[in-house]
Amino acid sequence: MNGPGDTYHAQAPVDLDAIARNVAVLRRRMNGSQVMAVVKADGYGHGITQAGQAAVAGGADWLGVVHVAEALRLRQAGITVPVLCLMALAEDEHPAAITAGVDLTAGTVPLVRQIAAAAAGAGRPARLQLKADTGLSRGGATRAEWPAVVDAALAAQADGQLQVTGLWSHFACADEPGHPSIAAQLARFGEAADYAEKAGLTPEVRHIANTAGALTFPPSRLDLVRLGGAIYGLSTLPGGAPGWLRPAMTLTARLAQVKRVPPGTGVSYGHRYVTTAETTLGLVPLGYADGVPRGAAGRALVQARGCRWPIAGTVCMDQFVVDFGDEPVSAGDEVVLFGPGEDGEPTAQEWGEALGTISYEIVTGIGSRVPRTYASAQASEPEGAVGA
Ligand SMILES: *Cc1c(COP(=O)(O)O)cnc(C)c1O
Repeated sequence: MNGPGDTYHAQAPVDLDAIARNVAVLRRRMNGSQVMAVVKADGYGHGITQAGQAAVAGGADWLGVVHVAEALRLRQAGITVPVLCLMALAEDEHPAAITAGVDLTAGTVPLVRQIAAAAAGAGRPARLQLKADTGLSRGGATRAEWPAVVDAALAAQADGQLQVTGLWSHFACADEPGHPSIAAQLARFGEAADYAEKAGLTPEVRHIANTAGALTFPPSRLDLVRLGGAIYGLSTLPGGAPGWLRPAMTLTARLAQVKRVPPGTGVSYGHRYVTTAETTLGLVPLGYADGVPRGAAGRALVQARGCRWPIAGTVCMDQFVVDFGDEPVSAGDEVVLFGPGEDGEPTAQEWGEALGTISYEIVTGIGSRVPRTYASAQASEPEGAVGA
């Protein structure tokens, strides 16, 4: 994937074609439900505008973000599909979102009123989606609060201050297929949505499913599915994403130094690793400041010269060491921390499993000092791609 002339120290090549293709395949498999590609957290670390453009090129109907600033970056990049902010935000962020035609979320009466007031100031109705808490106990209106939230939205809508464009909720346990809370939350969401529609709201979309819900529980797909992990080829399901999705991010580095050391050599801070024979150590110029967790020592594996090698000793802020035994590695050799897994390299899913976390925490944790590179995308941008 990288020519021998490359001189980078570390980089994260992102396969934008994989994102576009994942979205296209997901869209076909969702039986007509619209697809919202979730590109919060800098597109799960892949680059928000690049991931957003690739997702739209692949057919994403909506994009999902958390912060208004993220939504505005998508608009500035020329992306015109509807964008939803998934979290309740600071009041001073509402006017910019309303002006940019970005959908906001509210699950409380005060928030509905704040957004209506901001819309009155902006001279343009807000696009608002109401969020029901059906069992996650995070954002959104409880069953008891829902009627008042619906009433507040109806009143503001009658005054021309907003348009309720959607009703939604979020699963607590979608990554445990068959968990009884999944069907229970879907049923409660159905009741909440029916209540709102009988009261007079006419949302464009009802939605509840994330990647795990959409992949494993088809009744949850409703009008729209909110897919984050899946578009990057990841999921929180046991075993990761299905094989028809392709992980989009690779993390590679070049050995900064190689040295031969005798048996009994203590390696890295604390000498938590001591060589047992004469061996070759290679220095990888990535550390916990780049998102390689300190806990990866002795647990996660990296690939070099077609084999997998364990991390030897403490992961430092900017670097870690690999014990290559008698393998003839040289400074400048490529080390792959994770990738799609198609050439035997570890995957972000495997890193997550090794570290007792999920692949999302691995890819979103890759630091800003690691350049994302986008080699292949321009060559084959599918029709309908949005220009940068
Ligand atoms: C992040 C997020 C998603 C996407 O979840 P995935 O598991 O990545 O598909 C969907 N909905 C909400 C509310 C989210 O915050």
